[in-house]
Amino acid sequence: MGRRKITIAGAGNVGATTAHIAVGVELGDIVLIDIIDGLAEGKALDLSQAGPIQKFNCKITGSTDWQETAGSDIIIITSGMPRKLGMSRDDLLAKNTEIVKSVTAQAAKYSPDSFIIVVANPLDAMVYVAAKTSGFAGNKVMGMAGALDCARFTYFITDQLGASAEDVECVLMGGHGDDMVPLPRFTTVSQVALTELMAKDKIDALIERTRKGGIEIVNLLGYSAYYAPAAGAVKMAEAILKDKKITMSCCAFCKDEYGVGGYFVGVPVVLGSGGVEKIVELELNKEESEAFEQSVLHVKELVSKVEKLI
Ligand code: NAD
Repeated sequence: MGRRKITIAGAGNVGATTAHIAVGVELGDIVLIDIIDGLAEGKALDLSQAGPIQKFNCKITGSTDWQETAGSDIIIITSGMPRKLGMSRDDLLAKNTEIVKSVTAQAAKYSPDSFIIVVANPLDAMVYVAAKTSGFAGNKVMGMAGALDCARFTYFITDQLGASAEDVECVLMGGHGDDMVPLPRFTTVSQVALTELMAKDKIDALIERTRKGGIEIVNLLGYSAYYAPAAGAVKMAEAILKDKKITMSCCAFCKDEYGVGGYFVGVPVVLGSGGVEKIVELELNKEESEAFEQSVLHVKELVSKVEKLI
């Protein structure tokens, strides 16, 4: 197997950080693409010069020209406006639909056999845009949200319990919005369900903080998070390129699964060399199902708005 090639569209906060984390685990050669002249090239040069210190052997190129990306194994789409103070993810819909559509068209043209991981928000709707524009099979297009939202939930749990993140298995479903559905009954710490370890009011407080995890950071920084989102994108790309077959929450195409009926939403999946190889179907109780359905309804509303734009 030759060296892997990963294109990262958008060389801003999430894109450049994704590149940095990816080369740290020697995921493959990276092509950073941005529309701003000099930005991707400059970040790529700076990152390349970290190589001799960090001792990685990946080639990092920056460009505005999609020809450079030809034959990529994975395209990570971070190009898109991030939200600022006072904005919801949904406020980004029109502008980011335009950006994700144009970027996906280039990605599909130059890398027709690639997998696409979307990061741009509003996430679930942007995955739909990428899938529609590329025409790729459902297992090849997915979105990074669950990895981040699970990481936030896990961090809050470990902080509260004094536990190790290595011992936490988190399950979270639904759209990447305030109505995401962390599932404490299926979330375990050293194989014990969170519901056995913490009082309901404490768990509810952690769920609420997880749901508002993005805005908590926007309120502190004035712009959106990027270290943890980038780590989430690399975890997904690594699972695919290294055929890890790991189970993680990710925005994936669900037809009959969970009765979703043909939309991209957050569900636990198995990620490996086939992309989304399997959707793990859990036995949800009434309360969990209702929360999931509510979240999916929100995703469907966003998709119906997107359909008028593409
Ligand atoms: P940023 O502004 O730092 O970077 C975005 C980059 O995209 C900019 O450099 C911009 O020039 C570039 N860009 C715009 N249009 C382009 C095009 N047509 N082609 C190539 N590049 C283009 O923003 P960021 O903080 O990196 O966030 C990027 C996106 O990721 C936002 O939409 C943000 O909301 C989203 N995000 C998602 C998650 C998640 O969990 N899914 C988490 C954090 C951020």
